[in-house]
Amino acid sequence: MRVALETAKQTPAGDVPVGAVVFDAGGEVVGRGVNRREANCDPTAHAEVEAIRDAARTLGTWRLDGCELVVTLEPCTMCAGAILGARVSSLVFGAWEPKTGAVGSVLDAIRDPRHLHTPEVRAGVLEAEAAGMLGEFFEGLRSN
Ligand SMILES: [Zn+2]
Repeated sequence: MRVALETAKQTPAGDVPVGAVVFDAGGEVVGRGVNRREANCDPTAHAEVEAIRDAARTLGTWRLDGCELVVTLEPCTMCAGAILGARVSSLVFGAWEPKTGAVGSVLDAIRDPRHLHTPEVRAGVLEAEAAGMLGEFFEGLRSN
């Protein structure tokens, strides 16, 4: 999560700071992503999708079996779908996202027993730091 928090600092100005990192089974970083929705004018450019694409390029396969995705914010439904589609083995996230979170907040799109494949989930890792980074961003928006 420390690596994901560091990665989040590379989010372009004007985008909500979110960082995601994919680790392979040996613990090596194989993918990184930050939220670039505003910068890229791309509604799918969430940190998780960017990190999954980066990891798939690095590994030369779309199958991320054995990989762990660590992200600073609870994934939305789109990202939950990407995580399932990539066969990511485990998911770790920091802050809860009460409005759009799809890993337990609004709904749980990951741990549905009807899925063929269900990643392990650890939630709320370094939650205070992850939430603090978002809080600072939104405070900055309000004061501008
Ligand atoms: Zn998302």
